[in-house]
Amino acid sequence: MSAPLFVRAAVPTDGVQHARETFRQAFGSDATGVWSAPGRLNIIGEHVDYSGGPCLPIALPHRAYLALSARTDRKIRLVSAQSQAAVTLLDLDDIGPKRSAGEVSGWSAYLAGVAWALEEEYGRDHPGFDAALWSCVPQGGGLSSSAAIECSLAVALDEVWGIGLAGSSASPNGPGRTHLAHFAIRAENEVAGARTGGLDQNASLRCRQGHALALDCRDFSARDVPFDLAADGLEILIIDTQVSHSLADGHYAARRADCEEAARILGVHQLVDVDDVEAAMRALDSQRLRRRVRHVLSEIARTRAFGDLLDAGALTGTRRDVARLLLDDSHDSLRDDFEVSCPQLDVAVDTARAVGAYGSRMTGGGFGGSAFALVTPEITQSVTRAVADAYDARGWHSPRFIQARPSGPAAREDE
Ligand code: ADP
Ligand code: MG
Repeated sequence: MSAPLFVRAAVPTDGVQHARETFRQAFGSDATGVWSAPGRLNIIGEHVDYSGGPCLPIALPHRAYLALSARTDRKIRLVSAQSQAAVTLLDLDDIGPKRSAGEVSGWSAYLAGVAWALEEEYGRDHPGFDAALWSCVPQGGGLSSSAAIECSLAVALDEVWGIGLAGSSASPNGPGRTHLAHFAIRAENEVAGARTGGLDQNASLRCRQGHALALDCRDFSARDVPFDLAADGLEILIIDTQVSHSLADGHYAARRADCEEAARILGVHQLVDVDDVEAAMRALDSQRLRRRVRHVLSEIARTRAFGDLLDAGALTGTRRDVARLLLDDSHDSLRDDFEVSCPQLDVAVDTARAVGAYGSRMTGGGFGGSAFALVTPEITQSVTRAVADAYDARGWHSPRFIQARPSGPAAREDE
């Protein structure tokens, strides 16, 4: 049996070099700059962002690197080292939302959409650009490779187009980056056509190294919460099931529609505004909607409790036991009430728990993608081995493993 496979993050100098090389090969010249943005792991607060709930992401050390040069006309040329497709040619004057004449297909929509959204606000008179991507964020793994590429371009255009919202990456959690995230969200919702809720882009632009971002999705206000895993004697082990999901497909939209319908029946703007859980349960006739609402409201409570736990100090002793309970309950609720898990996620989580993880849950949209476990360094190896064996025994594709630590936000990589 082969050894468990780890996906390691590129060191930044390598990421920069790969992006520059991809640019050189595609366009035959040197890029003027390289910008990068991280994927994210949501610790807790799943499927509550579009109901106005809180979430608690960290930025991953895995990032998308984007080499870019401005042009003198309005054309865009895009290339990615992770895509077989040839260079995509577009014109800033022709890009439009999904199902409009300017619809952009495939991965280019995530980037074209950022340029389109910025110009919706700042005018259609900016120079075009050539851009080359190189990313080590696994795609479709629930770790937000899409927001990583959007946000790498958002910080690049913010600088090249002289918009000036990003400010310093040393203090990323300010109003400028909150506003910048809004354009990456519009890109994904309107141009790429995936109705995601805003967690991913805010995480990629606003998470601080060594911290989780306690993000309130009602208004995207946020605060940094210290999350020094190494000092707490813990590691985060991500298990990428390699079961591909697509957020643009119907499942995600169906769950979102359920939440919107329940909010309408309950007479609230968003489910976060429900204050009497028992009364809400009685008011809903549909079993399905009751289960959906029970997940959302219990997950909101768990997420707030987890933020308080991190505020209270290191995850040791009783606090570690409470963390385990909150993470485990989150998964069980996503599996049973929100029904967004799948056998590969459940086996990863059950196996990690059985080997002694301090909590394990699916993360991201679900239906595949990734789970993670809070582990001590001593058991990392036995968890990876046990999960790989469990997959092998069922004849499933081998999972991949990622070691995560709370990392820094989108930024210019070279000056
Ligand atoms: P996730 O964001 O969880 O990885 P999504 O389905 O939201 O999953 O986004 C994955 C999509 O993002 C890919 O199918 C592709 O279109 C695009 N993408 C992400 N990274 C890259 C990349 N390096 N090159 C080209 N496209 C990418
Ligand atoms: Mg995504």
